[in-house]
Amino acid sequence: MYDENNIFAKILRGEIPCDKIYEDDNVLFFYDINPLAKVHVLGIPKVKCKDFSEFVKKTNPEKITNFFKKTEMIINRLEIADSGYRIISNSGHDGGQEVPHFHIHILGGEKITNFFKLDLK
Ligand code: 5GP
Repeated sequence: MYDENNIFAKILRGEIPCDKIYEDDNVLFFYDINPLAKVHVLGIPKVKCKDFSEFVKKTNPEKITNFFKKTEMIINRLEIADSGYRIISNSGHDGGQEVPHFHIHILGGEKITNFFKLDLK
């Protein structure tokens, strides 16, 4: 069940501001409010899916492809394609997911040495 009041749903409705990098009819990319690397960007598709599994199961293939094509475009725009980056998607309790709207983290701009949020309970 998708929670209409999760923070990213509110950002998509314009009820909460964000530091936007790119938006179109299908996707939104913006900076994480609590960056864990020099570059820490969040990418969300404009679909009511709580996690990766729902996104893949419920979304049409063109939209899924488009989301990842746009992600690659953003990586180029951030100029981290050559230096490298890490893409993460936390799902559910064990994955340490805080916001139940499917999203990816793009981390880069420096060497990512640690596991991501491994300390979350
Ligand atoms: P998760 O743990 O669900 O994978 O990641 C959620 C991410 O959303 C966290 O990295 C957190 O810092 C970020 N976040 C939470 N609330 C906000 C917000 O209001 N604005 C932005 N830009 N990021 C947020």
